[in-house]
Amino acid sequence: MRFFSSLLLAAPLAAAVLLDRNGKIVYDGYKVFRVNTPEEGIAALDAQIAELEGIDVHRHADHFDVAIPPANLEAFGALNLDAQVLSEDLGELIAGEGEIAEYEGTTSMRLSSEDGEVSAAALPSLSWFSAYHAYDAHLTFLRDLQGAFPSNSEIITAGTSVQGRTITGIHLWGSGGKGSKPAIYFNGNVHAREWITSKVAEYLAYQLVVNYNNDTAVKAVLDKYDFYILPIVNPDGFVYTQTTDRLWRKNRQTRSGTSAVGTDINRNWPYQWVGSGSSTSPSSETYRGVAAGDTPENTGIRKFGDTLAAGKGIKLYIDWHSYGQYILFPYGYSCSAQVSNYSKQQSLAQSVASQIRSLYSKSFTYGPICTTLYAANGGSTDYMQDVAKTELAWTIELRDTGSYGFNLPASQILQSGQEQWKGQLWLWQNM
Ligand SMILES: [Zn+2]
Repeated sequence: MRFFSSLLLAAPLAAAVLLDRNGKIVYDGYKVFRVNTPEEGIAALDAQIAELEGIDVHRHADHFDVAIPPANLEAFGALNLDAQVLSEDLGELIAGEGEIAEYEGTTSMRLSSEDGEVSAAALPSLSWFSAYHAYDAHLTFLRDLQGAFPSNSEIITAGTSVQGRTITGIHLWGSGGKGSKPAIYFNGNVHAREWITSKVAEYLAYQLVVNYNNDTAVKAVLDKYDFYILPIVNPDGFVYTQTTDRLWRKNRQTRSGTSAVGTDINRNWPYQWVGSGSSTSPSSETYRGVAAGDTPENTGIRKFGDTLAAGKGIKLYIDWHSYGQYILFPYGYSCSAQVSNYSKQQSLAQSVASQIRSLYSKSFTYGPICTTLYAANGGSTDYMQDVAKTELAWTIELRDTGSYGFNLPASQILQSGQEQWKGQLWLWQNM
C-alpha cells in the first residue's frame, strides 16, 4: 500500500530518544515498515530516512525494512513510499521476547550409549533454549557444556574485543583426538542484535555433546571433523543490546574525527573490502572501517580462521545471522564472479533447505549472496572461500522473514535450533 498524508510538508521532528529508568532506549510506538526500493535505488532515500531518525533494520535486493519513531510517522507517510507495515509497535515485539532469564545451571542427565552403558553427566538444562540470557550466562553455559564432555572438548578463544572481552567458544573433537581432522568453523552473533544466532550455534554444540555417545550418525560426524564454535564474536555489541539499545548491530569502536560509534565487523574482512556493498560513513549500519581488518574482533576471528586453514584445513564455515531465512554462499562482493564449486554449493544448500523445511515447514531461500540478497563487501564468507580456501563458506540467515525480525520470541528458539540441527546433520554427513 502507499501512504498518503494530508500534511505533505509535515516536517520531521527531532524525536529525542526516550530512555527508561535503566537507561535503555524505549522503542514503544516505533513502527517497522517494509519499503519496496524505488527505481532510483535506496541511496536516494538514505538522507531522508536519516532525517526521520529511521533505523536501518534490514536490506534486501528489492526492498528494505526500516523502523520509524512515533513522532515522525506522519512525515514518513508524506514521503509517499511504496511501503507496508511489518510491525505496528516495535516496543511490543521487544517485550514479547521475554525477560533476560537467569541461567538455571546444570542438571544431571542420563546418557546411554548404544551398547547400553549408562552414564550421568551434569549438563546445562534444556531450558537454556527457552529464554534469552545475559552475556556472562553464555560464558557459564559454554564452560558447563565443556565440563560435561571433558575428554573431547575445550574452551577456545579468538582474540579480544574493543572493550577487552575475550571472544570465547568451544572446540569439540572425536575419536581421532584434538585437532586431528578438518575443521567445521561457526561464528555467531557478529551482528549484535541477532540474538537467535548465538542460541542456535549453542544448540548445535549441545546436540553434538549430548548425542556423541548414543547416536552413531553423530559419532561418525564428530569423529570426522573438529568443530570450532564461537557463539558470540561481537561481545561488546551483544552486551550493549541488553543494557542500552536492543537494535544495535555493529561493534563499539570509537574513531577519531566522528562521534559515530561502531564498525560493521562483517564488512571489515581484509578481502574485497572496498565496494558498493559497504559504507564509508561511520554512522552507517554497514560502515566498513578506516582500513581493512581494523576492528579487533575481526582480527581475532580472522587469525583464528587462518590458523585452522593452515592446519587441517576448513571444510565448512558458517557465519550465523538473522533474519530472512536464507542459505547463502559466495560471492557477496560481485554478482558476476562465481565460486569454482558453484554446483556443489548450490545443490548442498538446496538439500539443507529441504531438510530444514521438512521439520516445521519454514522455507529458506538459497543461492549466492550478491544475486540472492544484496552486494556485500568485506564479508566473512568471501574471505573464507578465497583466502582461507574453505570448501563451503556460508552465511545462514535464521528465522523469521520479518514479522518479528530480530525480536524472535523466546518460544521459537528451540524450534529454530531443531530445524538447523536437522539441516546441519544432513550436511555434515553428505558434504
Ligand atoms: Zn547479520
